[in-house]
Amino acid sequence: MRSLLLESLFRQPFTEQAPLRDDAAMQELATALGQAGRKRLGRSLAIREVDAGSCNGCELEIHARGNVFYDVERFGIRFVASPRHADVLLVTGPVTKNMRDALKRVYEAMPNPKWVVSVGDCPLDGGCFSGSYAVEGGVAGVVPVDLHIPGCPPRPIEILKRLLALLECVAA
Ligand code: SF4
Repeated sequence: MRSLLLESLFRQPFTEQAPLRDDAAMQELATALGQAGRKRLGRSLAIREVDAGSCNGCELEIHARGNVFYDVERFGIRFVASPRHADVLLVTGPVTKNMRDALKRVYEAMPNPKWVVSVGDCPLDGGCFSGSYAVEGGVAGVVPVDLHIPGCPPRPIEILKRLLALLECVAA
């Protein structure tokens, strides 16, 4: 018992080292995203997220954008509770049959102009849930998708990059 205790005190952690933070890239991306949103929308970018049956892996990455590391709200990018306040509908998951109507209702409740962004491999074709009796098999069959962000799950920085690309397209 004593040897186990001593071993656990001096053993190196199993987890990987955290990657070094790239402050300049993070600042550049987040600022550009905020400016593109303001250019097109005249204000900050409001995002309504719908989990349409995901495993929550994508949600963890989406939520990470709001933590102290990324802190994107300082640039005017924020999540809203009501679809009536949203510019972008962010969707994760393969769209379960139970969530199909709810997703459609959220989309219809959003004012124009609006954009739909699907996040992760599941919204494309069902991903690892593809073929299940419980899923529709993708977001595009339910609401029109403007941008897909691949990955299982995509990193927060990738989500930011793709949102910027979308906003630059609509602002052009
Ligand atoms: S893409 Fe991967 S992480 Fe995201 S909901 Fe699907 S299985 Fe989960």
